[in-house]
Amino acid sequence: MSAKVKTAVVTGAARGIGAGVARRLAEDGLQVAVVDLDEDACASTVDTIRATGGTAVAIGADVSHEASVLAAVERVVTELGAPTVLVNNAGITRDNLLFKMSVDDWDSVMGVHLRGSFLMTRAIQQHMVDAGWGRIVNLSSTSALGNRGQANYAAAKAGMQGFTKTLALELGRFGVTANAIAPGFIATEMTEATAARLGMSFEEFKTAALPAIAVNRVGEPADIAHLASFFISEGAGFISGQVVYAAGGPRA
Ligand code: NAP
Repeated sequence: MSAKVKTAVVTGAARGIGAGVARRLAEDGLQVAVVDLDEDACASTVDTIRATGGTAVAIGADVSHEASVLAAVERVVTELGAPTVLVNNAGITRDNLLFKMSVDDWDSVMGVHLRGSFLMTRAIQQHMVDAGWGRIVNLSSTSALGNRGQANYAAAKAGMQGFTKTLALELGRFGVTANAIAPGFIATEMTEATAARLGMSFEEFKTAALPAIAVNRVGEPADIAHLASFFISEGAGFISGQVVYAAGGPRA
């Protein structure tokens, strides 16, 4: 595999952490399929990558729908080549205290994070096995340790950790590693929306978070992209099934 340009799929890459990861992997020399719900929304990530000499394509897909995932992976194979790197990053929140949480809030969050990661990984793993090399990075969260108002999201993010460890066990013999990143507070539209829901400005929300963050700043997508880049690197082949909390301290 070493001389061939590798193809990566990054889900939820129109913005936020996914966009940061996609840009970083392109800088690392990978071709990137920028996958998100709305294909047009992927344009800014794709344009940024192309402007710096990288290769990227925009692909609209809903990771929670099997047919959509299969069609997306087929397009990746046709337009870029067989993918051997997958970053399961697409995510949503539907926060509420348990007694007010609807079945739809529960199912939607499970659908994007768990079902979505399952469908994408199942569709792409054969390409990794065929190549005898692969890298899977899944986005968990410090919320996996429990977070008030996030029973659905915390359960999904804890589930991502079990999913990751099982992928590591099943696919390791084929040269494939699987690791999870559990970010703390990262400044993106997701955390901005949480601030709005709590009736705070984003600046107030970020400042309020600082006392719990040892390095005294909130994270940026580039902080997570750096770790993803490491997990995907050639030299990280002996690291698999791990969960790294990237939260500016022992945990958020
Ligand atoms: P974000 O800014 O909300 O971006 C998430 C992206 O995923 C959006 O572009 C969204 O598209 C897309 N998406 C949602 N549902 C999808 C689906 N079914 N199929 C394809 N794409 C879909 O979120 P973020 O903050 O960058 O978070 C990225 C990942 O990191 C998520 O898994 C999140 O849970 C995790 N995380 C974030 C933080 C944080 O502090 N930000 C902390 C821990 C973990 P739409 O805009 O069309 O919905």
